[in-house]
Amino acid sequence: MSTHRLTAPAPGWTATTDVVVVGSGVAGLTVALNARQAGLRVMVVTKAMLDDGSTRWAQGGIAAALGEGDTPGQHLDDTLVAGAGLCDEEAVRTLVTEGPDAVRRLIATGAAFDRGEDGHVLLTREGGHHRNRIAHAGGDATGAEISRALVAAVRTDAEIELIEHALVLDLLTDAGGHAAGLTLHVMGEGARDGVGAVRARAVVLATGGMGQVFSATTNPAVSTGDGVALALRAGAAVTDLEFVQFHPTVLWLGPEAEGQQPLVSEAVRGEGAHLVDADGVRFMVGQHELAELAPRDIVAKAITRRMQEKGADHMLLDGRHFGAEMWERRFPTILASCRAHGIDPVTEPIPVAPAAHYASGGVRTDPRGRTSVPGLYACGEVACTGVHGANRLASNSLLEGLVFAERIAADLAERHRAGELPERTVDIEAARSAHAVPLPASEARAEIQRLMSRGAGVLRSAASMAGTAAGLGLIAEQAYAHVAEEKPADPRVETWEAANLLLVATALVAAAEQRAETRGCHWREDFPERDDAHWRRHLITTLAATGGPVSTPEEQ
Ligand SMILES: Cc1cc2nc3c(=O)[nH]c(=O)nc-3n(C[C@H](O)[C@H](O)[C@H](O)COP(=O)(O)OP(=O)(O)OC[C@H]3O[C@@H](n4cnc5c(N)ncnc54)[C@H](O)[C@@H]3O)c2cc1C
Repeated sequence: MSTHRLTAPAPGWTATTDVVVVGSGVAGLTVALNARQAGLRVMVVTKAMLDDGSTRWAQGGIAAALGEGDTPGQHLDDTLVAGAGLCDEEAVRTLVTEGPDAVRRLIATGAAFDRGEDGHVLLTREGGHHRNRIAHAGGDATGAEISRALVAAVRTDAEIELIEHALVLDLLTDAGGHAAGLTLHVMGEGARDGVGAVRARAVVLATGGMGQVFSATTNPAVSTGDGVALALRAGAAVTDLEFVQFHPTVLWLGPEAEGQQPLVSEAVRGEGAHLVDADGVRFMVGQHELAELAPRDIVAKAITRRMQEKGADHMLLDGRHFGAEMWERRFPTILASCRAHGIDPVTEPIPVAPAAHYASGGVRTDPRGRTSVPGLYACGEVACTGVHGANRLASNSLLEGLVFAERIAADLAERHRAGELPERTVDIEAARSAHAVPLPASEARAEIQRLMSRGAGVLRSAASMAGTAAGLGLIAEQAYAHVAEEKPADPRVETWEAANLLLVATALVAAAEQRAETRGCHWREDFPERDDAHWRRHLITTLAATGGPVSTPEEQ
């Protein structure tokens, strides 16, 4: 039973379904389509429009051992190396073994991947992969094509109910603590306007990432960590939050740029673009056997280090030798977004700097996508299945969303057949007795982002994170003080999102402060070495009765 909930009005309307899926990216829509095929009534609720998550923005592609000579075993090896000792090997084996067929099923659903003249799906390489195994669509518009195909498929299934502009607030459970629905706020008209409740036999979180917790990110505005925050308030365990991947090559738009920034995909380096400093020196050569194609954390750290050495705020990515024809054919989206910002990659190097990109951690799940709260599932970027460990291998995330979404649908179908998914009784009044978390003012969003980028970004230390934790604590105190003064912030989308950002930021810093080592994408200036003796294990974060997150190292 949830001990905490967001401050919100009581639900004014109720709807009922079998399975409610939160989020409409690759993960959510794949669960919806497959659960529907199993005969379950499905409702998809999503914060903005159906295609507004990260999925649509994915450029490079989706990794799977589809090429001649490639095997799931080789994909497994590359994934384990990137994960820096913290992958769950069985979860990775599931990903790489079930991945190729999951991609074929995605193609059968209607996603059109780029093909060669012989009709075979074209495969490219990205950082950390020793084989060409990245399938792409529209050159560098893979996510847009996957999103288009899945959205078209759910829209043609009249039995899948879709509610857009619906911000999910909190989980509802029955008296036994089994997930039984959720509360949400719909920005609509008519019967389903304002705060309501959806009753369901099972709840699937597919809310994507939390990049908006930092000032500069590749993630869209909806990626505010809502699923992780909801899961924490519902009593679920989350893990690996400290492992945030910073994409090394994000278009640098100047020192004041904030929010979502355009990505320059790894595939550009895969096709042979070079990283150089202002003097034209290729600084990745000699740092790693794969040079510019080293795993992302290594490239992000090398860029950050070089920027510090040179006192620069960006480096350069040189792909002039591709020529105009190749830029236009292979990277039309990147070319257009660079040109829209006044940079022409055909004639000049692209200014780049690292920005928050991917949450390797999230709500802890088992191989069937079940969380530690019965009846609550999670998949896609909000989940931590164990496949990424301390660092995600490029293009494994769309694949993870697909494979584990299918597994959740299969588990739901099996439980449904076995009569293990009965209707649940939820006492909405009892749910309202949970502690109502005061909401920060909507301006807190920018302050949280600044604090996180300053003290808990690519480079971290005990001192930098203490400053961030103190600043976050102050924002929480102010929210309580405003309630005491009877001047609370209005419950609305901006303040609910700010509350979620504050909770996930606080949880992330609590974990990152504890992990006194450098591993994967967690880089501690004060603990520069990897420390397997103490830290080859996960930190499990839950919410304490006081409402603060507590991280506990897992038994070794
Ligand atoms: C620029 C960019 C490029 C990328 N390139 C690649 C790539 O080439 N290959 C790869 O494998 N991965 C890539 N990734 C990562 C990948 O796109 C994501 O990890 C993946 O798409 C996540 O899918 P998802 O279904 O979990 O979440 P998303 O696609 O982010 O969808 C989340 C959904 O949840 C909804 N939502 C969130 N909160 C709430 C709430 N409170 N209530 C209701 N709905 C909510 C959102 O509106 C959205 O519909 C990239 C990411 C970005 C940002």
